[in-house]
Amino acid sequence: MRLLLMGPPGAGKGTQAAAIAERFGVPAVSTGDIFRANVAGLTPLGRTARRFMDAGEYVPDEVTNAMVADRLAEADCDAGFLLDGYPRTLQQVTALDEMLERDGAALDAVVLLEADPDELVRRLLLRAQQQGRADDTDAVIRRRLDVYAGETAPLAAEYDGRRLLATVDGLGAVDEVAQRILAALASLSARPVSR
Ligand code: ADP
Repeated sequence: MRLLLMGPPGAGKGTQAAAIAERFGVPAVSTGDIFRANVAGLTPLGRTARRFMDAGEYVPDEVTNAMVADRLAEADCDAGFLLDGYPRTLQQVTALDEMLERDGAALDAVVLLEADPDELVRRLLLRAQQQGRADDTDAVIRRRLDVYAGETAPLAAEYDGRRLLATVDGLGAVDEVAQRILAALASLSARPVSR
């Protein structure tokens, strides 16, 4: 299974990624988590990424693409993976296509987790209080939502055009949303389409 999970900041991607990855026995690869680990470890990658993350901007494509290519080349991704938070730009879509083509592999599905913008802001502000993430301040949250709408929302149309997209409502209890995602994936793979 090669899956992507996309959705705006605060939609609950991280929580759901862990559940879906476990269900399919593949690693969950979160670019946000990898960047945060590098920031915490004061690595050169972390130092580069931090400037962008703290401002609510995307880390440059060439930096992110190289990081993902390294991660997907690790043995645990041979049989599949769930990418959380990548790709986020059309250029990253192309880069991922090339990585997969090189291995003769292809994506199976893309899950888009949706939520209403007011709810997203509410969740992110709550998380800011609980976890103190540097990019969860009011102004940065607004910037992240804008960047998502401008850069990442268009990817849904791209993957829908490839008949890979399953759109899921991210509002509700964690288990409820997880069930919705599994149901959406099942009906996607049951759809009579040529891939
Ligand atoms: P969220 O989904 O809440 O925005 P993430 O944990 O997925 O948070 O990402 C946090 C930050 O890491 C992003 O705001 C961005 O700066 C950086 N980042 C993560 N994934 C990517 C990506 N694919 N391309 C560029 N930057 C990324």
